[in-house]
Amino acid sequence: KIKKMDLKKYIRDIQDFPKPGIVFKDITPLLLDVDARDYALQQMLSAVKDKPIDKVVGVESRGFFFGMLLAQALNVGFVPVRKPKKLPYKTIAATYELEYGTDSLEIHVDAISKGDKVLIHDDVLATGGTSKAVTELVEELGGTVVQCNFLMELTFLKGSDRLKGNEIYAAVTY
Ligand code: 5GP
Repeated sequence: KIKKMDLKKYIRDIQDFPKPGIVFKDITPLLLDVDARDYALQQMLSAVKDKPIDKVVGVESRGFFFGMLLAQALNVGFVPVRKPKKLPYKTIAATYELEYGTDSLEIHVDAISKGDKVLIHDDVLATGGTSKAVTELVEELGGTVVQCNFLMELTFLKGSDRLKGNEIYAAVTY
């Protein structure tokens, strides 16, 4: 068993980013540290132990980092979900609400096969709007979401309410 680490030491608060009044949780110190990064990965892997998984879906762009590490460790395919007009092949889109207006995310139509058991990964669960849209994309292509998996959950934003019906795991909670 590996030694317990406090991952919060590797996540720093950036005041007023990307806008005044917002405190942004910056995961780049965690990406820099090999031991902390591996510990975070092992935590997330232990949360899906014994669950059959066919694909990992990572959400642009910070969901790509650990999403790919998870896919590699689980020996399954990796699927990028991206902002509009970034993916070159045929896509479907899901729209979600932002504080002001809406945004959408896209996935390649051939990335998920009917019946695929899918692990969704993103760095942060905030309001849950982003992940909810990703679950819709996966389900529209016939996949089943096994778990929505995050490096951290900002529990005070109640994202888990938005994702109810889905299993949620976060390596760190605030
Ligand atoms: P939600 O849709 O759950 O409100 O927001 C989650 C999305 O916003 C994630 O894709 C995440 O990358 C990004 N996000 C929101 N707040 C933060 C934050 O404080 N730190 C980081 N790293 N990402 C955030």
